[in-house]
Amino acid sequence: MGSFPQPPSPQSRLLLQVIWDFAQTRSTWPTLIQLEQRLKQAGHEHIDAWDVLGQIPVGLVSKVQSRSEMDLSGGCIGLTVAGAAACTGTEGVLTALVQFTHAAAEVDAGQSLGAGKRSQRELSFPLDEFIRDAGLPSVGDADLLRKLRLLLQVQPCGWEVFEDPKSSGHWRVTFDGRAWVFHGVADIQDYWMRLPENRQVAPTFPVEELASTPEVAEFRRLAGQVYAGLHDGIVPAETAFDLAYMLLDAGYADSLARELAEQSAEGSDPEKIARLARQTLEAVRFEPDFDMEPRLLVRLQHALEMTKADLRPAGLWGVVGLVVVDGTVPRHAHVTFRGLHGETEGIAPGDGGEPTLALLAVAADLQDAVMETLGIVWPICPIHSLGAHARRHDDTTTWRCNGGGGHAIAAVGHLEASRTRAKPTQGID
Ligand SMILES: [Zn+2]
Repeated sequence: MGSFPQPPSPQSRLLLQVIWDFAQTRSTWPTLIQLEQRLKQAGHEHIDAWDVLGQIPVGLVSKVQSRSEMDLSGGCIGLTVAGAAACTGTEGVLTALVQFTHAAAEVDAGQSLGAGKRSQRELSFPLDEFIRDAGLPSVGDADLLRKLRLLLQVQPCGWEVFEDPKSSGHWRVTFDGRAWVFHGVADIQDYWMRLPENRQVAPTFPVEELASTPEVAEFRRLAGQVYAGLHDGIVPAETAFDLAYMLLDAGYADSLARELAEQSAEGSDPEKIARLARQTLEAVRFEPDFDMEPRLLVRLQHALEMTKADLRPAGLWGVVGLVVVDGTVPRHAHVTFRGLHGETEGIAPGDGGEPTLALLAVAADLQDAVMETLGIVWPICPIHSLGAHARRHDDTTTWRCNGGGGHAIAAVGHLEASRTRAKPTQGID
């Protein structure tokens, strides 16, 4: 198929087919030892799996990430989409994969699933439920679903599929916000070309991976100036050009970056430059930091003021605050309680972009800070005596309890009122 890498020899094509067939009969990708055994059983003992694998170009096979068991086998060998495409009997599952990525992109865009499932912190679903809710045509076809799950395991690009550690044989899928690049994906070739590794670098400029390198510092300096320029109504063409050039140079061969480079080199149409610059910052998911956008921190402070009212009903006292610390790019904020903060990754500036998101992030981080400082669980459901979790539902952020099939305790910041109303039978006092 068109742009896919091709197996370089008949032997390597055969090996791919053996890997695929193994996965179909065993519902798992083979280890190297299993692959060698299978080759022997199939009468291909003349094929040295190790040698042939070594000739297969990157992009057709991949080591499968395993996050459950201790892996003493050296890992499993899985086929990528291109590897599967080189095998027979894979048309149906490749179509299902395109449909899956389409749905995954919509999860990121928050378009298809209910608001209750949209909170950034809980994008984890049982795989079969996700498939069913997304209305994928593979619903109900257990065989197809199993094939799809195998393929999804190989290339986790925005999702991760893993066996539920609490319930073997049940698969879960989590989304980490990167699947948006597949929005509107047309077919399997289109999917392939959008894969981050096939665009040389991640489509989001890989800020986190490069953390404190000079390149990232430079990227953030340029993007920050462009961002400020957009704010002030005039984007300096030279800076926009430098930013676009840097993205192109880093392999972010996006038509947007190219257009921005051309426009800003020409420099004659400030409006067009501004529009392209804004689109480019969105495309690379540039996040302004708290210094560039102090209102993001202000919103977190408001959220903290609301949340800290919930300490009093539990009889907790202590100074709460926010600190912005080094260690991530951009720097994250941490809620402190009595001067200490939890072991979390903190709160990204983007969480300050919207009040319910800010409240959700701050409530969770205050909870961690209290736990870190006092070693206690807070808040606790007055009915079930279980620890509560902050969750976003519709436009409110509530403390929820998993007891009794799950229920809301109170909106964050309003715990006291609920205690009066709830009249606990077995409270925490
Ligand atoms: Zn409860």
